[in-house]
Amino acid sequence: MHFTGTIWRPPYEADALIIEATAGCTHHACKFCTLYEDLPFKFKPSPLEHIKADLLEAQTWYHDPLRKAEERLFEMPKATLGRVFLAGANPFGLPTKRLLEIASLIHGSFPSCESIGCFARVTDVTHKTDDELHALAIAGFDGLTIGVETGDGEALSFMDKGYAAEDIVEQCARLDAAGISYAFFYLAGISGSGRGIEGARRTADVMNRTRPWLIGANMLTIYESSALHQEIVAGRWQEETETEKYEELKELVGCLKISTEFAMMGASNPVMLHGHLPGHREQLLDALNAIIHKVGEDRLRRYRTTLPHL
Ligand code: SF4
Repeated sequence: MHFTGTIWRPPYEADALIIEATAGCTHHACKFCTLYEDLPFKFKPSPLEHIKADLLEAQTWYHDPLRKAEERLFEMPKATLGRVFLAGANPFGLPTKRLLEIASLIHGSFPSCESIGCFARVTDVTHKTDDELHALAIAGFDGLTIGVETGDGEALSFMDKGYAAEDIVEQCARLDAAGISYAFFYLAGISGSGRGIEGARRTADVMNRTRPWLIGANMLTIYESSALHQEIVAGRWQEETETEKYEELKELVGCLKISTEFAMMGASNPVMLHGHLPGHREQLLDALNAIIHKVGEDRLRRYRTTLPHL
């Protein structure tokens, strides 16, 4: 398999076949981000030849009931492949023609594959026409994971995310119209010291006008190699305490009015949580309160400062 540098995927994509469609990030400018900094380039699409070779290799691991018997390399019973997750920070930023070529290769190798997911930036959607989004939906693209991070316009601008809060609402409505579902990543702490509650309220206002199947909260973890660290050293930005981040999350959970999964998963979360909103709102709030009062700032901070990488 062709993999370049560290590969990230959302926890809920654990059962998907991971195929590297791109390496790096087209944006590569968010101040807090240290992902993909090990790569000697900003962004690179994978050659189609690599993708073909990886799909061929993966055929030896899966049973595909729709593939002709004479095409199967092995006849031993194996798991059936239902989903492919394209690796890279934002493969959805590839031109539509290339994404359709990749989808065609996937369906050629795995006729029973039902859907193709990947990380996407809000701006990747902006750059596609409605017809292109529709064609991508027909080709199986579904369940994108979008790291919107926040609906707080000031934080988006300060962190150089490259889009405004209203863009999230506008572009997600276009995904809804095309029939492409999506999950959000939220970044607790992104609004900075003293602004977490306001950031959560602004985020809820944005997310309440969208239809994510899941909101996954990550916790801001600042590494010295980040541009955000330089902002802190220069005295232009101050980090929230760990318990402030959890108070912010309580505000977000309290203000979300949509029906969605809410989860805290992945390395940045010292405590993992998962529930459905609105049904599990009280249990989620109780759990967040317990983290604040029973785990406490010191232990949470120790986790944050000793986390070697995301
Ligand atoms: S879009 Fe994602 S991967 Fe790219 S710089 Fe921003 S946070 Fe990092």
